[in-house]
Amino acid sequence: MRLHKDNGSDEPCKHMEGHLNRVADGTAGPLRRWYVRAHMAGCPMCTRFFASLKAMLGRLHKAKEAEPNEEAVHRILATYQAATAAAD
Ligand SMILES: [Zn+2]
Repeated sequence: MRLHKDNGSDEPCKHMEGHLNRVADGTAGPLRRWYVRAHMAGCPMCTRFFASLKAMLGRLHKAKEAEPNEEAVHRILATYQAATAAAD
C-alpha cells in the first residue's frame, strides 16, 4: 500500500473526497467502505477529514431531529387522523 506523508492539513486526497463523503453519509457499498478504510489506515489527512465529516453529519442529524420538517409532521398527522377515523 502506498503510504501518504502527513502534511498536517485536514484536506483529504483529491481522489478520495467523494468516497469519504459517501462512506460518512452511509451511501457507500461494502467495497467502497473497505477501500476507504484501507486508505485511511495509511493516510492521516483523510482520517482527519473523515472524522470532521462524521462530526458535522452528526450535528446535522441532531438538528433535523430537533426540528421535524413540515412534510413529516403532516404525514404523521394524516396517519393519526386515518387511524382515529377508522376507530369510529
Ligand atoms: Zn488520503
